[in-house]
Order: sequence, then C-alpha cells, then structure tokens
Amino acid sequence: MVHVSAISAFQDNYIWLLANNKQAVVVDPGQAEPVIKMLKERELELTTILITHHHYDHTGGVKALLSQWPNAKVYAPSTEPLPAATAIGVTDGDSLTLPELGLEFAVLSVPGHTLGHIAFYASNGLASTDHMAEPLLFCGDTLFSGGCGRLFEGTPEQMYQSLTRLSALPDNTAVYCAHEYTQSNLAFCHKMEPNNAQLKIYLQKVAKLRQQGVPTLPSSIGLEKAINVFLRAHLAGVAARVQSQVGSELNDDTQVFAALRRWKDSF
Ligand SMILES: [Zn+2]
Repeated sequence: MVHVSAISAFQDNYIWLLANNKQAVVVDPGQAEPVIKMLKERELELTTILITHHHYDHTGGVKALLSQWPNAKVYAPSTEPLPAATAIGVTDGDSLTLPELGLEFAVLSVPGHTLGHIAFYASNGLASTDHMAEPLLFCGDTLFSGGCGRLFEGTPEQMYQSLTRLSALPDNTAVYCAHEYTQSNLAFCHKMEPNNAQLKIYLQKVAKLRQQGVPTLPSSIGLEKAINVFLRAHLAGVAARVQSQVGSELNDDTQVFAALRRWKDSF
C-alpha cells in the first residue's frame, strides 16, 4: 500500500511523501533534515524527487538528499534552473512512471507563480483493488486551499488559465498544496462571499483542525470549486463584489481574477 504523508518544513511548507514500506518519493523538499529524519525512522529508500518550481523553499534540500541517496531521480521543470546537475527537465505533456509505487504522473504546465511552474497529476491515483482510487494532484504554489500563489513571474492571464485548467480535473482529485495557508485564505474568501454556506462549514472545520495542529490538506478540486474565490471569478456575485471594491468596470473573468489577486496581496 502506498500512503501520502506530510512532512512539515520551515514555517508552513509541506513536503509530501509518497511511500510503500520500502521506497519513497518526495515532492518539493525545501529542507533535507526533516525528510532524512522521516525516511530513516521508517527505513525507506528515496527513489524519486519531484519539483514543481525553482523557489528555494521547494528545492533547498535536493543536494543533501542526493548525497544520502545518490541514485534518486530528480524531475523538475525543464524551463527553470535545475536543482541538481543530474536533474531531468520535464514539461507539459510528459508522463512519469514510478513503478516503485505503481504510479503514473502527467506533467501539467501551470505558469503564473513562476513561469515554468508545473504540477504532477496521477489520474489513476493510488490503485487499490477494492475501490476506485481518487486522482492525485501535487500543485506546488499554484493552487492553495482557499487561495492561489502570488504572481512573482507570470501574468494574471497565465495564472487564471492555469487555475482553470486545474479546476477542470475531476472533483474527487486530492489536492496536495505546498503550504498551510488555508485558514488565512479562508478569511479572504469569507469576506468576498459572506453568504457561501459551504465556505462557512469549511471555515469551522479548518479552525478545529488547526487548533489540533493537524494539516488541512489534501483538499479536493470539488471543494475548492465550492469555496475558493479564485476559482469562482466567473460567478456574477463574485464579479459584482470585486467590481464594487475596485470602482471600475471589469470586462471578463480574467480581469475579475486579476483584481482579486491584487486585493488579496494587500489583505
Ligand atoms: Zn514558490
């Protein structure tokens, strides 16, 4: 059986660990120490490292992990600086087979937070004999629960298109974001949509989880479409709210999204 678990790093990063009882894959290891500690405790061999984008809090641990497990393969965006000399650049449309875990990932290009940002999507999920497995998405700093990444390199158009692409994935896709930002993101969503009933329920659930120090992730695409205002810029109610805030007419969904993102930057 393959399990996914969260390794906490820095203030609020999650390094996602996928492992059976022998082998392990990690996503965006910004720090090596917590990964090494976990793998030694569980006596796991690191076989693969997946990188969504070039920021240091996602790549900083790669070299130290390779010095412990020199045979581990590293996959990273081909259009961004590679995190190690042996890293393999991948791009939209590529697929990665991880036979050690019985997983196959499609690489999705999702520019916006950075220009070369990619996501890893496994449509078959963690295959199980007795039920349909939910698809898995590792989306780095593109989609957060209740939010989205800041636009460090890309345009609002690019980010909106990337988010639209992710929101078209099946509703039951498990969404593994790279940061625990959920609670503060939801405060913004609530301000934008004070009457969203599903959001109110989720706010309470998240508050309880955070009180207990439990991760709020993974989320799901279906949940995010219901509560994440950045995936709801196409709705008339959201557009009207944003328009009254900025005081000028917004002509399409992308402009609504862009205004939302600017507003959130100073929220
Ligand atoms: Zn980042």
